Amino acid sequence: MMRSQAVFTWMDQMPRKPGTHKPMRRLTERHGANDRWGSGRGGRPWRRQRARIFERDDYLCQIHLRRGEIRPVTLHGKYAGVCDHIIPLAEGGTDDDDNLQTICQECDKEKTAAEAARGAARNGGGYVKS
Ligand SMILES: [Zn+2]
Repeated sequence: MMRSQAVFTWMDQMPRKPGTHKPMRRLTERHGANDRWGSGRGGRPWRRQRARIFERDDYLCQIHLRRGEIRPVTLHGKYAGVCDHIIPLAEGGTDDDDNLQTICQECDKEKTAAEAARGAARNGGGYVKS
């Protein structure tokens, strides 16, 4: 009986420091995995900002609009628009509202391809998308 008492004392001191953190961390990780829809924004209220930009842009693709075409997008679903960085973050753009615009998926695909080409061009290539 003396021995089990010793074990209790040991248990009492040991788990306080690293022991209490471990289960907590695992819980957060699992939560984080399920909760990835704001993904990659470093915890900023991105969804709200996106909705605000869409609102500001009247739910119209700004790239189509500049060509004089009306291309409505929605927040969710099949025709969901993309909240696009006008100057890509990779090229020094910011997350500010005035660097964001609403575009459609089609334009997003084109823009992404153009940015990838520019990225390649920065590394010595000469390809410019017209
Ligand atoms: Zn478009």
